[in-house]
Parts: sequence; C-alpha cells; structure tokens
Amino acid sequence: MLHPESDLFDRILGEVNSMPVIDCHEHMQGFEKRPPYEEPIAALTFGYVFSDLHSAGFGVAERDIMRLQDQGVPTEQKWPLFQKLWQATEHTAYARVTKLILRDVYGVAEMSREALDRVADQLPDRDEAAYYRTIDEAGITVLLTDVPGDWLSPLTDGLASFMAGEARLPEKWRLLISLPGLHPTSLTWERIDAIGALTDHSPTSLDEFLDSVCTILERCKQRGAIGIKDQSAYSRILSYDLVPKSVAESQFNQVLGNPRNVLGWPEGKALNDYLFHQYMRFARDLDLPVQLHTGHMAGIRNRVDKTNAAHLASVLELHRDVRFDLFHGNWPYMGDLLFLGKNYPNVALDCCWLHIIDPDYASELLARSVMTLPHTKVHGFGGDYGDVPEFVAGHLHIARENISATLARLVRRRWLTEQQAISLAADWLYNNPNRFFSLGFDEFIV
Ligand SMILES: [Zn+2]
Repeated sequence: MLHPESDLFDRILGEVNSMPVIDCHEHMQGFEKRPPYEEPIAALTFGYVFSDLHSAGFGVAERDIMRLQDQGVPTEQKWPLFQKLWQATEHTAYARVTKLILRDVYGVAEMSREALDRVADQLPDRDEAAYYRTIDEAGITVLLTDVPGDWLSPLTDGLASFMAGEARLPEKWRLLISLPGLHPTSLTWERIDAIGALTDHSPTSLDEFLDSVCTILERCKQRGAIGIKDQSAYSRILSYDLVPKSVAESQFNQVLGNPRNVLGWPEGKALNDYLFHQYMRFARDLDLPVQLHTGHMAGIRNRVDKTNAAHLASVLELHRDVRFDLFHGNWPYMGDLLFLGKNYPNVALDCCWLHIIDPDYASELLARSVMTLPHTKVHGFGGDYGDVPEFVAGHLHIARENISATLARLVRRRWLTEQQAISLAADWLYNNPNRFFSLGFDEFIV
C-alpha cells in the first residue's frame, strides 16, 4: 500500500513537503527555450506521457500520433484520437503528472473536451514569470541541468558562448557538460574539427584532439559547470573495453586521414571506448562528478539490455577516484544497481525520472537501499524534463508522496524511528546531492 491513510504518513509527508530540494537532473535551459504553449493537447502531453500515448497506439498511423504534439493542429481535429489513447493510458505515472497539471495549474478536475477549452484559455498565462515561479513554488533550491544538444553541440555556437561567458543559465541552474557529442557513435571529420575549433585548433592527431576536449571541460568548469553527463546508453552498450591507444589511434586516423570517411557503429567501438576512458581520467583530474544514464530510455522502440549498469563494472572499478551518479534506478534491473551501490565507494544511486517511470519500483529501491547500502549514497529526485516546469512540479509532487510512503512503511515495521525517517528524506532530497556535487549549501537539518 503506497499511500496509507495514516497519521504517520501525513506527518512525514508534512515534513517532506516543506523540505528544499536539489533537483539532480533536468534538461532545462531557461524560459527562452520553452516550447510554445498554443494548443492544449500538445501543452499537456509534453515528454514522457506522449510515449505512453504512442505505446497505446497500435494500428494508428505514426503520422497521426505525431500530430497530437503539433501545436498548429486544432484541438478539434486531435480530440477523437487523443481521447481514445488517453483512456488507454490515463492510469500510468506519466499520465498522473498530466492529471496533476490539469488540477493544480488549470483548475480542472478531469480530462474532457470542455476541460481542454478551459486549459486553452489559460495557456497565455504560462509566461516567463509563471515559468520561474513554478520552480520556486515547488521548493527547488537548485537544479542540475544537462542542456539539449542544440545548445551544447560542438556544431553550434551554444557551447562556445558558454565557454566564453556570454551564454548564461538562470540563477538556479547548474550545468552538467554533455559528453556524447564529444564521443559520438558516428564520428566525422566535421565533428573532430568542430570540437577542435572550440579551442581554436584544428586537430591533426588523436593527442591534439584530446587536448582540445580536456580544455573544453576545463573552461566549462571555470564557467560554473559542476559535472559531466553521459547518455550514450541510448545508442550503445555500456561496456567500455580498455583499448590500446594504438588501436584507437588507428581508427581515429581513418577519419582524420580522409575527411570523407565516417567511423560508424559498431566498427568504431574501440575508439569510442578509448575516448570514454580518457574522459573519465579528465573527470578525475578536474574533480568533476559523472552522471550516467542507465536503464529505461525516453521514447519507444529502443532496447534496454544494453543500458544495464552492470555493464559498467569495469569502469567503476578502474576509475575509483571518479564519483559516478547512476541514473533512473537502472530500471528494470534493480538488483544489479543495489549491488553496484553497495560494492563501490565511488557510486551513488540517482532516482531522477524514476518516481514516474515506476513509482512502486522507486519505493522498493529506496526501501531496499536503506537496508543494503549507506544512505549517504542516494539522491532522491530529478525531474528529467525539458523546459516545462509544471511537469517538473507534478513529478516532484509524486516523488514527495512516494518517498513519504516508503519511509512510513519503514517506520511502521520498526526499521526506522520517525525522526530517522525524516532525516533520511532530507539527506536524499538535499544533503546527499549537495555534498556529492560540491554545491556548497549549508546542510539542511531537520
Ligand atoms: Zn535526462
């Protein structure tokens, strides 16, 4: 039972609701990058819930499903298909975020055609002030953000202007440097040259290329970046072999020696592995913690077995001076993740996204983590959304309830006292990430 109707649960939830939160993972850039809010179905189905609608859409043309996210298509035209798919998926945790937004942001009790008109009337109110107010009112002190590729890609000027101190992030934002663009699974000469150009070089060897990457990481840190984030699990298996430099160099030179060549996947795995290990050495030397995507992926029709954090064991063993923050509860491979957290001092478990992937799994993971590993190694929340703060707030609402229900269960079975439970919540939501990411805030004492 997740939400016991008990005074104990209510008391713990009251405490947890008043706690500040360090949001350990977002993809937000600031109001300017927010999608347009022009049509209510599109505005209510941003991100993950759209994947559930997609998954419910067997037999429906892909094009018709995609039109649901098109702000230019009138609600009237979308409604028959949306109604059918919504009814099929409205009980998922992703859909619950949409229900919370309907209730708390737009004052609507349930999804209906009329409700969408009421939402449409209020879309103009979702302005810049509402954007930042939503984050503040959710109780988020600071959010760690991995901004999307269009901003950080070496092929655009976003990263260059951040390194130059021109592009700034909002006050509560802390940047994680996105790593996949620096070791793409499909490597071209243009990419090598664009990375070099960020440091005013045109690399003529693997060593020169690595010098450029190290300089980029160094300059980003000087501009306030607090870590590195890698989500290569979307496109490759998380096992990284230790590859001799000569092998990596020979693959690198295939592209460098003829700018028309492309090193693809899987033939470029050796170089990709080599670069990843080299970047972990940079992370160690620059004292940058590393966030890694493990488990479940956004979208549909990907394969999850390649994302199991168990594949990372050799990386975690080798780079023991690097702090690794493993994402998403490694869903659905819980046992493997608990082992890694218990076994390696340099591993922390990050519950970002997890409370809406699978709330009961998140609850079980948290409860088992209390019993299996030091509670200092757990990070309780990350919204993992783009520039749609009301979705983050809805997610956090679910997370606070889920964490409170988990702790109430541990108190009821007398594993924890009530005070210990409240103190654990403060550690998960605030003190642990504050320390792990060296954010420098005072400890939150309950
Ligand atoms: Zn993410």
